[in-house]
Amino acid sequence: MNADLHCHSCVSDGTLTPEALAQRAKERGVELWALTDHDEIGGQQRAQEAALALGLAYLTGTEISVSFCGQTVHIVGLGFDADNAALAHGLAATRGGRRERALEMAEGLAQAGIHGSFEGALKYVGNPELISRTHFARYLVETGVCADTSEVFRRFLTEGKPGFVPHRWASLRDAVRWIDDAGGLAVIAHPARYRFTANEEHALFSEFKAHGGRGVEVVTGSHSAAEALRYAEVAQEYGLAASRGSDFHSPDESHTDLGALPELPSQLTPVWELLKNRIQQPR
Ligand code: AMP
Ligand code: MN
Ligand code: MN
Ligand code: MN
Repeated sequence: MNADLHCHSCVSDGTLTPEALAQRAKERGVELWALTDHDEIGGQQRAQEAALALGLAYLTGTEISVSFCGQTVHIVGLGFDADNAALAHGLAATRGGRRERALEMAEGLAQAGIHGSFEGALKYVGNPELISRTHFARYLVETGVCADTSEVFRRFLTEGKPGFVPHRWASLRDAVRWIDDAGGLAVIAHPARYRFTANEEHALFSEFKAHGGRGVEVVTGSHSAAEALRYAEVAQEYGLAASRGSDFHSPDESHTDLGALPELPSQLTPVWELLKNRIQQPR
């Protein structure tokens, strides 16, 4: 099954509308799709309607920012009830503070000689509640400060760099519970991206499970083939189902397109097997 259960629209830091993403997913052979905007479900209805109209099966989705052991961890939620009030409140609280953080980032960048970056980033923002580092990165590429967005992150937007502002996101326990209580399944996103020690990683996986988390991304646009193999083993070790998603943001920036992913290793249980009754099927 060509499932792609991780990508972003202009409702967070992607560049395409939910409708354009649905179209692109369908054209590229995706058979089961989820839009997973950062800390937002404002695009869910549009994504679902567009997908079903194209004959594409759909799962609701979001990607929640979490603070854990001094780093930011992303938890993808799939198949939840998008009308759940506690989830909506939790996401709104997680989004809160992004504007203040962005103003502080712009101050840091101004001290490094880059002026007007708050206004510059805003030009790329589709949702005023969701200003992200990606929007700053696009502005710094536009103005020629950097050649591409990865260079911006490396030089300006990561820990210790002038535009980096530490931020307190949701707790792991809250994020997993919001998803679980809304009838969904929580997934640890792109685990190879974090820089945890072995003990910290063990704490992440075991606490995640204890809170009710049930899945981990094994095949993602953020993993090499070797990393996918490693997290296939970790999935088995912790008894987690496996997810698959491109993390597509933009035709100009993303290396992995929608649907263009290797298969999940066959020994794993795909998350969609646990979500059968949550999938919206086209008529
Ligand atoms: P934020 O939620 O504002 O901290 O922004 C996080 C987003 O920045 C991620 O979801 C990615 O889209 C993007 N990002 C993080 N690190 C990098 C990187 N090294 N290169 C390109 N984009 C990145
Ligand atoms: Mn992003
Ligand atoms: Mn992420
Ligand atoms: Mn993502």
